[in-house]
Amino acid sequence: MDTIFHKIIRREIPADIVYEDDDIIAFRDIAPQAPVHVLFVPKTDVATLNDLQASQAEVVGRLAFAAARYAKEQGFAEDGYRIVMNCNDDGGQTVFQIHLHLLAGAPLGRFGTPA
Ligand code: 5GP
Repeated sequence: MDTIFHKIIRREIPADIVYEDDDIIAFRDIAPQAPVHVLFVPKTDVATLNDLQASQAEVVGRLAFAAARYAKEQGFAEDGYRIVMNCNDDGGQTVFQIHLHLLAGAPLGRFGTPA
């Protein structure tokens, strides 16, 4: 697979990277939907959540754990935050490498309203 996120992982296009380890990269969303909007992306290729195999379930756990750790490090964990994974058209997925959105920094209101 070769999405824009793979290009960011390979440093072929710039991004504001806030965290990286052997399994995950995290960077600020180019079009933030909240005061804090960071994308957590696995380095394992998985196009959508529908493609995740049982043997890969820990991939999503790592994203969630990294997001919660980032929230604690940045000091907004107690105030709260939202994590979102979009899947396919109705979910609003536009980049077909799974990723977890971390949204925070203000009360976020409700979600799930039809477009
Ligand atoms: P999705 O809609 O697939 O759940 O989320 C994709 C996200 O990637 C969007 O929120 C979009 O703003 C973000 N995005 C798309 N292209 C780029 C880019 O080149 N750089 C960064 N940092 N974010 C991007």
